[in-house]
Amino acid sequence: MDTNIIINIAYIVSAALFIFGLKLLGSPATARKGNMLSSLGMLIAVVFALFDQGIISYSNIAIGIAIGAIIGATAARMIEMTSMPELVALFNGFGGLASLLVGWSAIDPSANTFTMITIFLSILIGGLTFTGSLIAWGKLSERIAGKAIVFVGQNVVNSVIVLAIIACGVMFVMEPSNANYLYAAVALALLFGIMAVIPIGGADMPVVISLLNSYSGLAACAAGFAIGNNLLIVAGSLVGASGIILTKIMCKAMNRSLSNVLFSGFGSVKATTDVIEGEVKPLTPADAYYILEAASTVAIIPGYGMAVAQAQHVLKELQELLEENGADVLYGIHPVAGRMPGHMNVLLAEADVSYDLLLEMDEINPRMETVDVAIVIGANDVVNPAAREMEGSPIYGMPVINVDQARTVFVLKRSMASGFAGIANPLFFKENTRMIFGDAKESITTIIREFE
Ligand code: NDP
Repeated sequence: MDTNIIINIAYIVSAALFIFGLKLLGSPATARKGNMLSSLGMLIAVVFALFDQGIISYSNIAIGIAIGAIIGATAARMIEMTSMPELVALFNGFGGLASLLVGWSAIDPSANTFTMITIFLSILIGGLTFTGSLIAWGKLSERIAGKAIVFVGQNVVNSVIVLAIIACGVMFVMEPSNANYLYAAVALALLFGIMAVIPIGGADMPVVISLLNSYSGLAACAAGFAIGNNLLIVAGSLVGASGIILTKIMCKAMNRSLSNVLFSGFGSVKATTDVIEGEVKPLTPADAYYILEAASTVAIIPGYGMAVAQAQHVLKELQELLEENGADVLYGIHPVAGRMPGHMNVLLAEADVSYDLLLEMDEINPRMETVDVAIVIGANDVVNPAAREMEGSPIYGMPVINVDQARTVFVLKRSMASGFAGIANPLFFKENTRMIFGDAKESITTIIREFE
């Protein structure tokens, strides 16, 4: 059989594995299998791409693969689960940089206009994805200030950059042999990535990372057109489409439009309406036991603090003790709880919590009034009733888990500090709320000891 046909069949198999893999990633129960299938697809893609293209040096490629694999495996092993979004931001950024370099290397002054346009797009989108992701990584890891950086005339400056990009693109396509347009395109793309992300507040970084993930796919897709590789086009489109779908889901979970996230400078101004009435009522874990012992329905609402405390395993133990005691236990999962989509699901799956017990926000909210005790463990923004009650709040309108409607609410956290969005939480002052101060894992462990 013709080598070309074999290679294209291998590409179709890879594309199918990517699509099935993505489908399986849709549920925590099948996610591992989905990951394996997609990885197998990528392995097949890489091996056959090495037959497909006119390879100049296999040894250089082998060295590159070895170095990349060592860095990737070490980073993934060493990174804390709580820092995963930062790692994803870096991966997106390097994906963008790779597309920029592929586009750059594909420049051929004799290429047709369509190819030159795709080369320009891979350089542009790849470049802005690279610097945008680095800024997002810096903000998330708090290496640079997380707050939105806005200044007078910002829109004018950004508009000038966009116009310069368009002009540069036209000249680049018309005169591919003039290297100055290439350098200008690279510089403008890198600059635009920075300018687009600095006015966005740290609290919106997950959405930005998801969007940049989509861009890295589009850049790869453009690079696929530039070098005539069908699989890169398919894989890039899949990443581009899934990234934008995830972005939309996250925006919906925060009740914001994408343009509001990108252009509103959310987080640059602090809310002035944080006047909260009520009194904070602390409770010891030992006293919490007596209330839990009498509860027949318990809802557990985890957030970022559960990940910090690594409290998922003790939480599972508490769930079993409550069930043995005759209580129904459910978990309420907010779509943006934690620091990445699916963060809570992954941690609870690690502790073997049954998927059937995990209810999404829309499923648990209607039941909240029948819940005896809602245990809020390290969650803050995603249970903040200010989103419903305080019109001036920056999160007003964001859907939250309505734990305050339960008969009693336990909030497990170390202090009165605010969450990621940096805003006060009236839940802590409500009549039916009891604050259990301390590390979540230690507090739960003490409650478990009381049960035993
Ligand atoms: P928050 O960031 O609102 O609150 C986390 C709380 O956990 C803090 O108030 C902190 O309080 C507490 N905490 C931290 N460590 C511990 C510990 N060891 N034991 C007990 N409590 C602890 O988390 P949420 O999950 O409620 O909300 C997620 C926020 O993150 C949202 O604003 C969301 O937009 C944003 N975000 C979401 C991402 C996603 O995709 N899921 C990604 C990035 C950001 P204290 O210090 O007093 O202990």
